[in-house]
Amino acid sequence: MKRLLAIAALIAFCGSPCFAQPQIDYSKFEIKTTDLGHGLYLLNWQGGDSLFLVGDDGVLLVDTAVAQLGDKIKLAIARVSPKPIKFVINTHAHADHFGANEAMAKTGALIIGHTLLRERMAKGQYLAAFNQTIPPSPPAALPVLTYTDTMTIHFGDETVELIHVPSAHMDNDTLVHFKRANVIHASGTIGGDGGYPFFDMSGGGSLAGTIVAEDKMLELADANTKIIADEGEPASTKLLKASRDALVMIRSRVQKLIDEGKDEAQTIAAKPSKDLDAQWVHQGNMSGDAITRMAFQSLKSSH
Ligand SMILES: [Zn+2]
Repeated sequence: MKRLLAIAALIAFCGSPCFAQPQIDYSKFEIKTTDLGHGLYLLNWQGGDSLFLVGDDGVLLVDTAVAQLGDKIKLAIARVSPKPIKFVINTHAHADHFGANEAMAKTGALIIGHTLLRERMAKGQYLAAFNQTIPPSPPAALPVLTYTDTMTIHFGDETVELIHVPSAHMDNDTLVHFKRANVIHASGTIGGDGGYPFFDMSGGGSLAGTIVAEDKMLELADANTKIIADEGEPASTKLLKASRDALVMIRSRVQKLIDEGKDEAQTIAAKPSKDLDAQWVHQGNMSGDAITRMAFQSLKSSH
């Protein structure tokens, strides 16, 4: 979420949680539906992206949004298809991706996610970047089907590949590749609306893993693939490649400063992302200082 990213950047800049997360009025949110072709639709709820695929006898949904938006998500799907939601895939264990799981499960959806996502949801977690404590999820909200490396779902004419990328946006990310529709949900491994990506180190994420995830998507993609970020409009393969190249550049520059003995403050003061920020920093997205601080911390902890 852009709003959360901005907060995360500020918290990172303060070095400690410096203010509480503002209350968000979800009743004002509108959900935009975009037809991506071959029965696949994007649901953009001004803070996050979900996908749904309409099959012969049901719907497969990727990410359920925050709990408060569950009904609106169901309504947006019902406007396209009256078929029941049969499967839910959670891309990662941030609450804006699994919040309405329980509501979906209660009406018969089978929830699927990575093994580590189930563990994090069951235990509850503290997300340092957001100064946010996520309580343990009720049993009905937890994935019923879990996997470790890959899983394939054959859904109508579509083949849906779930691919785990370790230690990327979190430690439990799933890339969801819709082969026929030529769409990949990136979990949180690419920044929304052409911004720098955020990797949640308290949730097991890392810079190196995010680069590996972007490399993996480049391997799967062709020139026409649509990449679904955490939020915003789909990214192109070209933008994904540019994101990967920017991250590789930031990694090598920050590593050089670390090798020269610079501490975190000196590394940020050296502005190693300066020439890249014009392309990647937009209002509400992460700043150059924030990505530098995250890169420093991630490389220092040898991720
Ligand atoms: Zn996330």
